[in-house]
Amino acid sequence: MKDQDCIFCKIINKEIPAEIVYENEEFLALLSINPQAPGHTLIIPREHHRWVWDVPNAGAYFEVAKKIAIAQQKAFKTESIWAHVEGAEVPHAHIWIFPNPKTPGDKADLAGNAERIRKFI
Ligand SMILES: [Zn+2]
Repeated sequence: MKDQDCIFCKIINKEIPAEIVYENEEFLALLSINPQAPGHTLIIPREHHRWVWDVPNAGAYFEVAKKIAIAQQKAFKTESIWAHVEGAEVPHAHIWIFPNPKTPGDKADLAGNAERIRKFI
């Protein structure tokens, strides 16, 4: 199921560009355009679900979160990777994975930060 007005569904359909750092058959990981820290990544299911808790394959979902977190540890040279699940900003399930906001780096450099993460996936 897709929601025609959903910005994340549009990114999944490649109607809107995004810095995608990883994707597989079920999930997609992209950089936030409003980052809390360098490399702040959102992980979304390809199917439109309102909440993270609606996503059927939660184990596979968390495996992707872990993959991104470990790549961020290496890319930004920090062990401190935070996760956040809220869901208020966009009504399509998403998990935030991001380095501790005190991590040095330019959080606005989306293309550069995406490249750094991709190198470690
Ligand atoms: Zn959606």
